[in-house]
Amino acid sequence: MSDKKIKGSCLCGEVAYAAGSLRIFQSCHCSRCRKNSGSAYAANLYGDPKEFTWTKGSEQVGVYVHEHAKHFSTAFCKKCGSALPWKSKNGKVMVIPAGTLDEHPGIEPLQNLYWGSRAPWYKSAADLPKHEGLPVKEK
Ligand SMILES: [Zn+2]
Ligand SMILES: [Zn+2]
Repeated sequence: MSDKKIKGSCLCGEVAYAAGSLRIFQSCHCSRCRKNSGSAYAANLYGDPKEFTWTKGSEQVGVYVHEHAKHFSTAFCKKCGSALPWKSKNGKVMVIPAGTLDEHPGIEPLQNLYWGSRAPWYKSAADLPKHEGLPVKEK
């Protein structure tokens, strides 16, 4: 855990935030996180809601509260649609999508959640061929 405030923002830059007391970093493979992230899993950090502030564009933050979920909701930029940090329904945790961070949070991923719910096609990115940018076209 670090006392430093970590900065993050959305794709278009209209919304920015500062988050503190980040204490858990994990990947969630549940179907809700896959839908919300649009990807194989959601890499999220948990922070203290009292240490969280929108530093720019708070009026652009949309919130979706999942009616059947115990804790899950989502937040997003109304302009670019990027996922943004959201508060758990009980108000105890600020869930921060790791891809929105603009700097290293000082902690690293710890574990996978809902591993049994992972996408049937899931394959670890580390096991796939690696290109620095787009793959080079063969002539
Ligand atoms: Zn945006
Ligand atoms: Zn999840």
